[in-house]
This record gives sequence, structure tokens and C-alpha cells, in this order.
Amino acid sequence: MSDVTTVSCPTCGKTVVWGEVSPFRPFCCKRCQLIDLGEWAAEEKRIPSEGDLSDSDDWSENQQ
Ligand SMILES: [Zn+2]
Repeated sequence: MSDVTTVSCPTCGKTVVWGEVSPFRPFCCKRCQLIDLGEWAAEEKRIPSEGDLSDSDDWSENQQ
């Protein structure tokens, strides 16, 4: 019973079983792994943080 080792996901803090059932360990999922690698942050940096965000949404919709 107590042989199971668990760790906390570095990204969200969720308990992750350290074993075959957790392919993304020490992360709880692929998403958290990507966030830690910085890929997720890189995506967000591409979104302008200045100006009217709602205006940006309209622009995106008009492109389709
Ligand atoms: Zn996580």
C-alpha cells in the first residue's frame, strides 16, 4: 500500500503518482509539462497585452 510514491506537479501542485500510470511525471498531464517548458508561456506572449482585447477578438473572427 505505502509503496506508492507521489509527487506534486510543479505546475499546478496536483498529486501525481510516480509510476507507469503517470507518463508525464513529475507533471500531472502534458499541458502542465508544456507550461513548465515555457511553450505555453510563449504562446501567450504572442497575444498583445496592450489595447482593447475585445477588439482583437473581433479581428480574429473577421479573419474566418
Ligand atoms: Zn499539473
